[in-house]
Amino acid sequence: MKVIKFGGSSVGTPEMMIQVAKIIAKNDKQIVVLSAVQGTTDSLNKYTQLLESHKNREALHWLLTIENKHIEFSQQLINDTQIRLDLEKKIHSITQSVKPANEIIINKKRILAIGEKLSTEIFYHYLLSIQQHSSLISALSFMRKDENDEPDHAFILENISKVLLQLNNCNTFITQGFICKNKNGEIDNFERGGGDYTATLLAAAVNAEEVQIWTDIDGVHNNDPRFVDNTFPVRELSYNEAAELAYFGAKILHPTCVFPVIEKKIPIRLKNTKQPDAKGTIIHRQTSNKNIKAIAAKDNIMAIKIRSSRMLNAYGFLRQIFEIFEKYKIPIDMITTSEVAVSVTIEQTENLSDLLPELQTYGEVEFDKNQTIICIVGDFLASNHGYASRIFTNLRHLPIRMVSYGGSKNNISILIHTDDKINALESLNKGLFQGIH
Ligand code: ADP
Ligand code: ASP
Ligand code: MG
Repeated sequence: MKVIKFGGSSVGTPEMMIQVAKIIAKNDKQIVVLSAVQGTTDSLNKYTQLLESHKNREALHWLLTIENKHIEFSQQLINDTQIRLDLEKKIHSITQSVKPANEIIINKKRILAIGEKLSTEIFYHYLLSIQQHSSLISALSFMRKDENDEPDHAFILENISKVLLQLNNCNTFITQGFICKNKNGEIDNFERGGGDYTATLLAAAVNAEEVQIWTDIDGVHNNDPRFVDNTFPVRELSYNEAAELAYFGAKILHPTCVFPVIEKKIPIRLKNTKQPDAKGTIIHRQTSNKNIKAIAAKDNIMAIKIRSSRMLNAYGFLRQIFEIFEKYKIPIDMITTSEVAVSVTIEQTENLSDLLPELQTYGEVEFDKNQTIICIVGDFLASNHGYASRIFTNLRHLPIRMVSYGGSKNNISILIHTDDKINALESLNKGLFQGIH
């Protein structure tokens, strides 16, 4: 069994959906995970904003636009009149289920979920129309989060197994990425880009031989192609390297999607839907190349410095500080300490009214907002020297707020002001990769 995920751009036009059908026709047993049609999740977000600002008439108009877009899409894709009419009814009933009159209490997650419901209905009906046999299975019947808002692996395993057993004469299953239920059985999701996470969670549950993530680019590039020219695909990454890149901002992978498959050693292959024969990237246990592989950037970070003479020669100080972050469930990304101060980074938030007074009981607190973590990923064995100097030489013209080196052998993280991000990414691209490709 393989799990094959196609992102929004891969199902963004009728032509792309036809291409997806051709790609999956070559596989034997597979679960196909789809995102919403490109732009739909953003449109649904806008719809909820209109509802929240009580612009119901405008909201209804916007929802009709979303419905019409999907109906036009189907009309271009499907020739069989009866199948197309059935699909149009489905599209209408899905969009009607979130129309303003029914949304007395605005449930954003229930609204966002219709994007994936619509795209999978369209794709399933298209396969039906070309007599490519498949079953449409609802992710809401097996994808669930637990009381800590983490995937409920036992529930997922039990329920996807049941579904597959009931349909054991079928080889191709179509399902929605991104959406799930929460511990109370309400509709939830795995955050933006969550389709990748659905795919790897399912792969772990069904013990898949491979997960494929099909998107609009030929695999993971060495740097962020949205900000830097002359990037190139990295053909091979270890799980740890890919996990660091995903967590620290490489949008091609959802931040936590690598973790589910590590234990079972299921490879993740990234592929380009527009160029199915291009090599892409393979993510697996080990890589042969011990070097700097890629760079990513994570924005919207703030640094917090706590300075206290009580730290001098004291033990337990850091524990007390970390307990405050734990209490408010705030994850820390980077840490550096000196004898009298500790700096940490967290995701930027305006809501510091609880955290700040508690931190101030331990010392003087300072904040730096609008920071970006630049994460350089590779295989940095301590015995292979010279990496740090190459990185810092290329950043010598920029102010650096924090550095984290040695936390793992796969990551060097540097905190800079967000205004310097593109400059840093470009300088590192020239200095670390020029001539390699
Ligand atoms: P999908 O809709 O298929 O999920 P995404 O937009 O989530 O696609 O991810 C693909 C995009 O990620 C690429 O088009 C590219 O702009 C962006 N991206 C950011 N960093 C990287 C990187 N290091 N390598 C490849 N793509 C990246
Ligand atoms: N449709 C969702 C998004 O746009 C999830 C995904 O693409 O995987 O974020
Ligand atoms: Mg994505």
